[in-house]
Amino acid sequence: MPAVDQLARALHQALGADQVITDRQELRTYECDGLAHYKVVPAVVVLPRTAEECAAAVKACVEAGVPFVARGSGTGLSGGALPHADGALIVTSQLRRIVEVAPQDERAVVEPGVINLNVSKAANPHGYYYAPDPSSQQICSIGGNVAENSGGAHCLKYGFTTNHVIGAQIVTPDGDLVQLGGRTPDAPGYDLLGAFVGSEGTLGIATEIIVRLTRLPESVRTLLAAFDTTDDAGAATSAIIGAGVVPAAIEMMDALAIEAAEAAVHCGYPEGAGAVLIVELDGPSADVEAQFADVEALCREHSAFEIRIAGDDAERALFWKGRKSAFAAVGRISPDYIVQDGVIPRTALPEVLHRIGEISRQHGVRVANVFHAGDGNLHPLVLFDDAVEGQAEHAEEVSGAILDLCIEYGGSITGEHGVGMDKAKHMPRMFTDDDLDTMQLLRCAFDPRGLANPGKIFPTPRLCGEVPGRRRAPHPLQEAGVAEVF
Ligand SMILES: Cc1cc2nc3c(=O)[nH]c(=O)nc-3n(C[C@H](O)[C@H](O)[C@H](O)COP(=O)(O)OP(=O)(O)OC[C@H]3O[C@@H](n4cnc5c(N)ncnc54)[C@H](O)[C@@H]3O)c2cc1C
Repeated sequence: MPAVDQLARALHQALGADQVITDRQELRTYECDGLAHYKVVPAVVVLPRTAEECAAAVKACVEAGVPFVARGSGTGLSGGALPHADGALIVTSQLRRIVEVAPQDERAVVEPGVINLNVSKAANPHGYYYAPDPSSQQICSIGGNVAENSGGAHCLKYGFTTNHVIGAQIVTPDGDLVQLGGRTPDAPGYDLLGAFVGSEGTLGIATEIIVRLTRLPESVRTLLAAFDTTDDAGAATSAIIGAGVVPAAIEMMDALAIEAAEAAVHCGYPEGAGAVLIVELDGPSADVEAQFADVEALCREHSAFEIRIAGDDAERALFWKGRKSAFAAVGRISPDYIVQDGVIPRTALPEVLHRIGEISRQHGVRVANVFHAGDGNLHPLVLFDDAVEGQAEHAEEVSGAILDLCIEYGGSITGEHGVGMDKAKHMPRMFTDDDLDTMQLLRCAFDPRGLANPGKIFPTPRLCGEVPGRRRAPHPLQEAGVAEVF
């Protein structure tokens, strides 16, 4: 019997009929994540409702020798949850209980399918919230956040997901339920939880997560500063951080991104701005007031031609509306676009933005920039029209050239969207063979059969059991034409 049929039969025995999808039309619902130009229809979709069902699904995959891919809400932007054509897609959206909110411990225990924003909503009556705030927080799941080590506008001050997850129950790629970390930080031994966060579904599936809750700040103040150029806005960003102020967020948008946001949500940003900064400070009122005056002065010193200070929550929301809608808004000025994600040292912002401008002009491809300026996490939006022959390829080239720039300046090919399948080919540009082999050793320790989300993160999967060290001959997968070295 084909492995997939064996798997489907085992899954039907272990789970309810409505939890196993094999109908081709229904399977198509799951053919892509947020990176919609890659599409693969999975062989089977599984919808576990408990951790034990999730473990049973993974065990069934192991017994049938079939690969599996975890999926949360499917909003990922690097093809991490792209299914495997001969594999199972294990969707965690039914695992959506908030198990516990414990303000006395500043902890919450949640299932992986819980939507990010719902953790903050549950914690709010107790005076707490969950700090990592991806722009997709109304739809993305905590399990996906853990797998991608997601960030957000406020991660400049509060840190990424990894700083807010202290424990997780996971299903290992063998199908066992184990606990990594716990309610108390700093367990002795290797930091396996640290390795799991950001592992993009390659080390197992999280089935319960213990997160740290953060006290709601006493005061929040937000300003919007308009500059003629991104140079001035970049210099103001460095000056603010250099002055010892760590805002909750500093976000920048360039002229093209502002144009898109205006067209989509009419955010009313100052006319003629070449760049805007949104700077938000939070914390004890006395500190916020003192630092806010410094931030305002530094923006003026760096040629801000208009500064608006949010007088109330409604005005603050309007400042953020333009920024938070920016990705989708670009659809107003271009039929298609690539959302890129790379990191550079913050001080290199002006120079790198110039170089991006040059690349854009050389290729005749427009690039809108909207990004977390405070931590140098760029999100260039590369615009193209798929209906015009060759434009998609051109946009891909520009997008790759921008990542090369990030590496050249000592940065990274991803800040928060992950490597997934999309950027696997860029990994050897950033890491040596030895680096990649070392990462494979870790992966093999968790997943000796290579069944957990294969084909993601690594361009040339070294087979578990191969002797580590420098490769002297082509990898067997290369010879078989399955994998490619870039
Ligand atoms: C409009 C928009 C804005 C965005 N803004 C941001 C942003 O500001 N910051 C940011 O970081 N990201 C952002 N993203 C990207 C995306 O929302 C995040 O990567 C998010 O964490 C993905 O969550 P998800 O539930 O949709 O995961 P999926 O897309 O379903 O999966 C993502 C990865 O996680 C793995 N996975 C899912 N669940 C589990 C689990 N339980 N255990 C193990 N692995 C699992 C999958 O295999 C896959 O590799 C944005 C996306 C969109 C569409």
